[in-house]
Amino acid sequence: MKPKLKILIVDNQKINRKILSRFLSDFYEIIEAENGRSALATLRSQKGTISAVLLDPIMPIMNGYDVLKEMSKNPEMAAIPVIVISQDNKEDSEIKALQMGARDFISTPYNPKILRRRLSNLIELYQSNLCIGHIERDTLTGIYTKDAFYRHATEILGSNPTTPFTLVATDIERFKLVNDSFGSATGDELLQYIAKILQHDSLQLHGICARHSEDHFMILVPKCADDENMHSFIDAAQKELNQFPLNMKISLKFGVYLIKNLQTPVPIMCDRALLAAESVKGHYEKSYAYYDDSIRQRLVREQQIIDEMKSSLEKNRFQVFLQPKYDLTNEKIVGAEALVRWTHPKLGALNPGEFIPLFEHTGFITELDEYVWNHTCEILESWNQKGLPHIQVSVNVSRKDIYQENLPEIIWNIVKRHELQPSQLHLEITETAYTENAGQLISVVNELKKIGFLIEMDDFGTGYSSLNMLSELPIDILKLDMRFMNSIKKGALQKNKHNILEFIISLAKWINLQVVAEGVESKEQADFLCKLGCNYAQGYYYAKPMPVDEFTKLLNNSDIEIPSIPPNC
Ligand code: C2E
Ligand code: CA
Ligand code: CA
Repeated sequence: MKPKLKILIVDNQKINRKILSRFLSDFYEIIEAENGRSALATLRSQKGTISAVLLDPIMPIMNGYDVLKEMSKNPEMAAIPVIVISQDNKEDSEIKALQMGARDFISTPYNPKILRRRLSNLIELYQSNLCIGHIERDTLTGIYTKDAFYRHATEILGSNPTTPFTLVATDIERFKLVNDSFGSATGDELLQYIAKILQHDSLQLHGICARHSEDHFMILVPKCADDENMHSFIDAAQKELNQFPLNMKISLKFGVYLIKNLQTPVPIMCDRALLAAESVKGHYEKSYAYYDDSIRQRLVREQQIIDEMKSSLEKNRFQVFLQPKYDLTNEKIVGAEALVRWTHPKLGALNPGEFIPLFEHTGFITELDEYVWNHTCEILESWNQKGLPHIQVSVNVSRKDIYQENLPEIIWNIVKRHELQPSQLHLEITETAYTENAGQLISVVNELKKIGFLIEMDDFGTGYSSLNMLSELPIDILKLDMRFMNSIKKGALQKNKHNILEFIISLAKWINLQVVAEGVESKEQADFLCKLGCNYAQGYYYAKPMPVDEFTKLLNNSDIEIPSIPPNC
């Protein structure tokens, strides 16, 4: 049998309480209170269990109107339906009671059957609202859930068709890092904190706010269409967020969708706002973007790339190109870097700068890299068989590859299969891998070094961790980021930047690392680097990346030097 719902009867006259009790006790569990004060005490002590209140408006100590007033201040009590049962049937009393939050007013003498019916209707309504209210709220943050937001936003837009509205999505930059570094309890606190800020700010603007998914929030506000409004809204939210006590800068990225067509379903509008927010992730100088058609077009193109990647790999559509590396002192070839090339069946030749980040995002990069490593080892094996000098070729190891548990074993097996020495294959790892997960990188690099691979630190000087990293990672070669070459531009040497370059090269010498300069495009740059003591260079000044056949011809016709790189263990 279902337990009976509880009803609170509040009346100073015992006889009235007993009469009501008699009518209702077959259907409800009855609790009695003889004045307003004890009624409120009961509501507090029995929080959440009372389904309705029958209230006498005139009582000593605390009257029924004051009970209604107190109940209205408390969100949980305010939702409990109250029927005022009055000895007089004056219109004024009825209006007063209803204005103060009573749901119904019944005057004596009353028909017990009608009273029971009205009571049960009200309770039913209250219970269904309670259910909706509960499901509508996100359990962690207390703000609307995604579905509730869709429902309310659709209603608001539908009933205000002439008011311009703006939908704003937010995305927390590097939220996963917060969870990883500080624990998920801190992550949860951060989400609650952000929800509070956004809820407050959106209410100020007469809007609504929801937690759309894990670390995404959604806001619908009227008239936020101009840039200045949006800017101050974002600025204020970011300033408040800076107060969150965490030893890491948290920044919010915002995507703005200006609602122009009310026929577009709200979930699609939200997706678009989120895409706009995503488009500024990783851009330190930008905190928000408006959704526009270029974002949509970019996504369509990205999808075309993703759609073709697997079948292109199966059909050997990816090619390995080689770009030679030279000794700066005598301009002899010392090695090469393997760089992938792809002619997409629909989009034509694509720049790795476009598809590699996408493959890193989807995880496909691990498959592609393995393909490139295999192919590169095949090339080295064929040169060995032809009796060509055993030059070293470097391959790129994406930061995503580092997360593979058995990465050293995978590369070692490839090298063994092609009967190569591990020292013939250099591994280029970008500096950002260290910023992302230093511990994992250190242990993987140590393993690789044990096998005998030589490690080149790619794009050195772009991350934030350069000096720290040098003391922790047993690398062999520093590959200077291409941007340093800008400091050795024709005619004007940029003093500060080239001072840094000079410092890095001398530091590398001091800790026994060899230095490769990348992106060398002029004789002037090559001469300058040579003067600073940089060992090797790679760049268009010498040669562009080229197909393997062309490179093999170049090897046959060039002076070659096999450098002896002292492993830096
Ligand atoms: P990266 O590893 O820093 O490779 C050097 C890039 O600089 C190459 O671009 C190369 O063509 C270009 N480059 C070489 N010399 C010059 C020069 O003198 N001037 C200029 N402006 N550029 C020069 P590419 O081939 O477009 O590759 C871009 C990036 O894509 C690479 O940067 C690397 O991060 C990634 N990548 C390329 N192939 C692979 C691969 O097989 N696996 C992985 N994980 N990443 C790859
Ligand atoms: Ca590289
Ligand atoms: Ca590089």
